[in-house]
Parts: sequence; structure tokens; C-alpha cells
Amino acid sequence: MATIKENIQFIQNRIIATAQQCDRDPNTIKLIAVSKTKPTHLIEEAILSGQTLFGENYVQEGTEKIHYFKASLPNTSLEWHFIGALQSNKTKLVAENFDWVHTVDRLKIAQRLSEQRPDHLPKLNVLIQVNISLEETKSGIKPDEISELAREIALLPNLKLRGLMAIPKIVPDYEGQLEIFNKMHLLYQELQHNIAGIDTLSMGMTDDMDAAIIAGSTMIRIGTAIFGAREYN
Ligand SMILES: *Cc1c(COP(=O)(O)O)cnc(C)c1O
Repeated sequence: MATIKENIQFIQNRIIATAQQCDRDPNTIKLIAVSKTKPTHLIEEAILSGQTLFGENYVQEGTEKIHYFKASLPNTSLEWHFIGALQSNKTKLVAENFDWVHTVDRLKIAQRLSEQRPDHLPKLNVLIQVNISLEETKSGIKPDEISELAREIALLPNLKLRGLMAIPKIVPDYEGQLEIFNKMHLLYQELQHNIAGIDTLSMGMTDDMDAAIIAGSTMIRIGTAIFGAREYN
């Protein structure tokens, strides 16, 4: 079995190869290691391999891991991304502990995050989640609702709106994946045109990362290909 270090190296090489295919600078594509459900000793292996950006889906679990590494590796600077569904009664821990939130899809959540962000911390980086496949059960806003929510978020004092995020419905074929990601990239460019400081398009997971990079993703979120399969989600 490959080690976590080898898996990360493999993904990094794949980012470089795919970026070259479409004439992109590989340094403009960040890798988030999605460590949800995985124990701290595996995360530590990733950290020792040079990985510094991590994604977590559950507020309590993520917060515990953040505190664990602050205590055990105080000199290692890590960046923690909240990528799970966020209920309004859980925003405080996220505002106090995470560096990024990818799943903002309501003004109320954004307002709470801004109010609860401690003054001694930098602004919380946020992305608006877009329900690009228009699935009824999925979170995220519809494409035509982006500009209004973005304008409102941009006014909140303790948040920094950085861009958009999507989890498209599972499409097995590359062409189908590319079509959805291209739609997201157009929405991203439109937002860049309307609001200053938009520099992040978070899309691409283990099974669709190549199409996401070709379509212009700047942040891919990889779990399975780094840490192995999960027993639950
Ligand atoms: C679990 C998860 C990932 C990682 O998925 P893999 O297919 O394991 O790479 C990425 N993004 C989000 C929002 C997730 O919940």
C-alpha cells in the first residue's frame, strides 16, 4: 500500500501534469487534504510530508483536531478549511477556529460568522457554495442568486469573500464533468468582474480533479486519494 507521503506526491505530480496540459501555472492550484473522519496520526503523516492545508466537514471533530495540532506542533503553521454543511447554531466554533469556510449559502450564516469572528484573528475567508447541478437535496445557492449574496457578504466587517465553491453531482464521464466545471468557471469570472479580491474557485475531488483543473479550479479538495477510503462520510 502507498504511504500518505507517496499519495500526496502523486497528487502534486498530477496537478503539475494537468496544469501543463492547459498552460496553467501549477502554483495557482492549491491542494486541500480532506481529513474528515481520519485520526490525527494520519494527519500528522501528511504534515510531515509538507502538507499544510486541511479540510474538515464536522465542527466538533475539526475543532478538536485544530486544538490538538496547535498544542502538539505549535511552530507549524496550518490552514484549516471548513467544507461541511454549516448550521447556524454551530457557527461560533467555526468562526473561532477555522481560517476558511467554503459552504456559505445564506446571509444569516455569513452574518453570524462575521459577528462571532474574534477581533484578534484575521478576517475569516469565505466562499459561496453554488448548487451548480441544481439538485433539490443539496446545499448551495442557485447561480442567479450569487451576485446579491456576494454583495451582502462583501459588506460584512470580519469576513473576506474570496470566491465560489461547488460539489457537483457525480458524473462518471470526463466530458460531463468538464461541462459542469466550465459553468462554474464562468460564474467565477462574472463574480471577479463585480467584486474586488475574488481569487478562489474551490472545485475538484478525488474522482474529478483533472476536469476541475482544466476548467480553472484554484483549490482542489482531495480526501480518498490521500488518506484512503472512508468507512463513513
Ligand atoms: C469528502 C469531501 C471531499 C473529498 O472527497 P474525496 O472524493 O474523498 O476526495 C471534498 N469536498 C467535500 C466538500 C467533501 O465533503
